[in-house]
Amino acid sequence: MVGTGRKKSIAFFIALGVGMISVAILLYVGWVLLNWRTGILLFLGVILLAVIIAGVVLNTTFLVREIRRNEQHDAFINAMTHELKTPVASIRLYAETLQARSLTDDKRKEFCGIILADCDRLLGSIEQILRTGRLGSSSRKPNLAHLDLRELVTECVVRARFLHKLSAEEMVYQEGPPLEILADADEVRAAVANLIDNAVKFSGKAVQIEVTARAEEGRFARVRVRDAGSGIAKPELKRIFRRFYRVGGAEAARVKGTGLGLYIVRSVARRHSGRAWAESEGPGLGSTFILQFPLSKTGAK
Ligand code: ADP
Repeated sequence: MVGTGRKKSIAFFIALGVGMISVAILLYVGWVLLNWRTGILLFLGVILLAVIIAGVVLNTTFLVREIRRNEQHDAFINAMTHELKTPVASIRLYAETLQARSLTDDKRKEFCGIILADCDRLLGSIEQILRTGRLGSSSRKPNLAHLDLRELVTECVVRARFLHKLSAEEMVYQEGPPLEILADADEVRAAVANLIDNAVKFSGKAVQIEVTARAEEGRFARVRVRDAGSGIAKPELKRIFRRFYRVGGAEAARVKGTGLGLYIVRSVARRHSGRAWAESEGPGLGSTFILQFPLSKTGAK
């Protein structure tokens, strides 16, 4: 309901903008026909008209952008409520069962395992929100130090294989030579972990991921995370890095999330004079995410 209401108001504002521009052009043509001799007035009129048209275009763009942003905020609140509520409900249920019944040791261990996994999920979501706030505030500068990106990627791969129970064939990674960059280890770790977690999340059942970290073009350290998962349509490749943005459709409904992960990745890249971008041949054809940092002067050879 809210969605169709918003779509209607977007259509209304666009129609309003187009209508106003048409009226202005009509006025202009009439005015020129009547006053073609008065040169200065004509000149002023042209400038004023250009100002009016630019104002209307700006106004329309602004309104549409604001409405879209509101829509994303709503989607974020919904997704976040779900992300916070589901694990809490599950923890409560298992804790009540543990309290009310006498269970075998195996069952108790299993339930405790589920509770711990839900706690991790909850902590993960809270950490994403806090990190988004930190990255958004300009007063928080990254804590820069010389570090080996290769070591950090290895650490993230080992963590992901363990966490998602993946074999070395499912998540292929070969450690290369050292890659020295000047960066905030905590931020870079969060960015790489987000890319790897997304690759797992959007892979479905058959996980086939390849992670590489190497020096390219003599001055960049690039981390590539390639998956054979759901892929991304061309028009979405840039949008997915926006805050709160999630691609709609069946895949988004199946895979839960907040739309903050890639925003964090892009913010971290930018704070380190780097870049992050995505490549994909299209839906169903897998995707590759690239995170690039400048090699530090002592590291670039
Ligand atoms: P979330 O994963 O919480 O939805 P992200 O910011 O991490 O938020 O991702 C934004 C969107 O980008 C996702 O909803 C998904 O549509 C798309 N996306 C991210 N990573 C991948 C991937 N590896 N394969 C396909 N789509 C992806």
